[in-house]
Amino acid sequence: MTHLLEVRNLGVNFKTYGGEVKAVRDVSFHVNKGEIVAIVGESGSGKSVTVQTIMGLIPKPPAIINAGNIYFQGQDLLTLSKKQMRKVNGSKISMVFQDPMTSLNPTMKIGKQIAEALIVHNNLSKAEAKEKAIEMIRLVGIPNPEERYEQYPHEFSGGMRQRAMISIALACSPELLIADEPTTALDVTIQAQVLELMKDLKEKINTAIILITHDLGVVAETAERVIVMYAGMIVEISSVEDIFNNPKHPYTWGLLESIPDITATSEKKRLIPIEGTPPDLFSPPKGCPFAPRCKFAMEICMDQMPPEMEISEGHSARCWLNDPRSPAPEEVIQQGRKSS
Ligand code: SF4
Repeated sequence: MTHLLEVRNLGVNFKTYGGEVKAVRDVSFHVNKGEIVAIVGESGSGKSVTVQTIMGLIPKPPAIINAGNIYFQGQDLLTLSKKQMRKVNGSKISMVFQDPMTSLNPTMKIGKQIAEALIVHNNLSKAEAKEKAIEMIRLVGIPNPEERYEQYPHEFSGGMRQRAMISIALACSPELLIADEPTTALDVTIQAQVLELMKDLKEKINTAIILITHDLGVVAETAERVIVMYAGMIVEISSVEDIFNNPKHPYTWGLLESIPDITATSEKKRLIPIEGTPPDLFSPPKGCPFAPRCKFAMEICMDQMPPEMEISEGHSARCWLNDPRSPAPEEVIQQGRKSS
């Protein structure tokens, strides 16, 4: 089956005065038509750089795409000119950002902003674009769409602005919607509504969605598959069920333990942060990038980068513990205790 999007061995560096930051390393994944894939990881894990590269939004320089391909409907986006990329963006791929205020034009009525996207990408007349824009405002659940069409962004609440952003992003019925932390700035009730809306739109117009988040609760609610990123690399990919029921990477275990549990009574049970900090991406370690923070680290981990190991169909992890010759995680800890 041809995938809607296929990223192969992507590498992105950033040139700085201090050297080159290896922001994305050997990243490969795919997204199928109409599917919701979440990318999770801490800040600096490479999630946003990856999607900005897909959208052609990273500035070159300072960024250098030093390896890989990004196939969208079979065409390598990395070979397109800026003009060709602009045609793809907005009509076939569109993006919803974390803060709608920075991406909405505060001097332009919301309705006009949606209509403009339709005129540019769909060649509609002004009247047709207005009619479709009102329909889009209705589709994302904003009441009184005719009235709202005439209002400015500051007249909308935070949740409504995020909905308006989604309606601009979906105006041209893109094949792929990339949502970068779309609900982080919203309170929990509105967050749930926006996620519900995205799921609903996927059902209605079969848009595939890449959802970037650091919140595994959001993943459980929304996504079908999950990509876990750490230090610019993918460390685990699997279905949502497997990530929660059978995770195979110590970093994923750490993320799962750090989900806040509001039903827990003691502080200790509520939040267990992962100790330590991510490695310096100017000169990443030659072995496993998680080794300095991993309580299961073995000698080989310091020395050799773990390859991507298949756990089951559609589930893989980059961790030496999944090598059939590796001791079980508990044994690694036991051995560590004995030798210390
Ligand atoms: Fe930990 Fe080694 Fe697995 Fe890396 S490869 S996550 S250091 S056990």
